[in-house]
Amino acid sequence: MHVQTVIEAGWVMPMKPKGVVLPQHSVLINEGKIVSVVPSAETEGIEADELIRLPDHIVLPGFVNAHTHAPMHLLRGMGADLPLMDWLQTKIWPAEGKLMSPEFCYEGSLIAGAEMLESGITCASDHYFFSEDVARGLTEAGLKCSVSGIVIGFPSAMAKTTDEYINYAENLFERFKNNPKVRVTVGPHAPYTVDDSALIKVRELAQKHNAYIHMHVDETQSEIEGSLKQYGIRPIERLHQLGLLSEQFISVHTVKADDKELELLAKTGASVVHCPCSNLKLASGFSPIAKMMRMGINVAMGTDGVASNDKVDILGETRLAAMLGKAVCEDTTQMKVGDMLYAATLAGAKALGWDDRIGSIEKGKDADLIAVDLGNIDALPVFDPASQLLYSAGREDITHVWVDGTIVVKKQQSNGLRPLSREKAQKITKTWQNKI
Ligand SMILES: [Zn+2]
Repeated sequence: MHVQTVIEAGWVMPMKPKGVVLPQHSVLINEGKIVSVVPSAETEGIEADELIRLPDHIVLPGFVNAHTHAPMHLLRGMGADLPLMDWLQTKIWPAEGKLMSPEFCYEGSLIAGAEMLESGITCASDHYFFSEDVARGLTEAGLKCSVSGIVIGFPSAMAKTTDEYINYAENLFERFKNNPKVRVTVGPHAPYTVDDSALIKVRELAQKHNAYIHMHVDETQSEIEGSLKQYGIRPIERLHQLGLLSEQFISVHTVKADDKELELLAKTGASVVHCPCSNLKLASGFSPIAKMMRMGINVAMGTDGVASNDKVDILGETRLAAMLGKAVCEDTTQMKVGDMLYAATLAGAKALGWDDRIGSIEKGKDADLIAVDLGNIDALPVFDPASQLLYSAGREDITHVWVDGTIVVKKQQSNGLRPLSREKAQKITKTWQNKI
């Protein structure tokens, strides 16, 4: 057999089956697609144009960032420590009012896309204005993406009325219908900024294009109270009554959902995107994701925009989610390593409807892969590669990123001054590991 690339790894984590780690395996890639995953001892008869040996690395699918606002990269660092409404009213909205334009969205997304790739994110789901330009920035950086046709009950530089927002979204479907790297969602902003008549138009547009609906839902207590006051029901109940919930509904945050709302999400097959850094920094609360996972809800990971995070680091986000989730439910057996790494990859692909192409290392899927170095001092010794990927490694250890089989990030090992060499650290830890 002849293939273009063989990646011979210390470990491969395909994500399907969930939680499985294959030691000493190789990923075979041809024409941008995964051909197979085989034990490295069985690659002798395989000819490859390129053999990449990564004996200290774990190879897994690229991370999926299921919720972000990429252009907000150009607003990073504004308004720390302010209450949510002050932050929006005195910092973010005035800045957006001044800067919002196609060029702002393009250049912000180009920067965001570059940081995302360096963090191992190979597909992102964006929710912002001028999404045609967001898609241009993200794909130029090298990612795949879903972009939203936003619908919000306020005028912006992009559109003034619901119909103008819907028209922009409609045009996105036409614009990207033949682009293999871009998919389009309909993005109503949130239950408190979109009225019933606009939500019905959102549902009709999504049904027309068989598209996913991407929406902030149940983010804060005041959102719940506002919904009860205005509509007499909670936000998710309202969305259900309007016919929005389905397997193609992406519920972002969902921090304050009660049991009845969670049951509606579970029953309809909707996905939740968990963004713990944003929820913590904006003091929104703790999303009950252990409960969601137990109920069978598909839980994916998102970073939100960097204005409320302030980095796009899915590995760090997932580590935080695991620890926070255990503490919230006071149960160490919840939020298992395999479940969390699945949330950062295949669950994200599933939430966005990209799981036909990405999210796991399987024959025929796109070769969107990352390699994480577990041979550095920060991850040694390696007793449990998946656990150490989640709990010990950081995004700086993600050294290789491939999209469609092409390498787009390759970080060199530092030759700078270090207190202990990599080789010496490996030798010491290996010696003690072997005594067990
Ligand atoms: Zn958001």
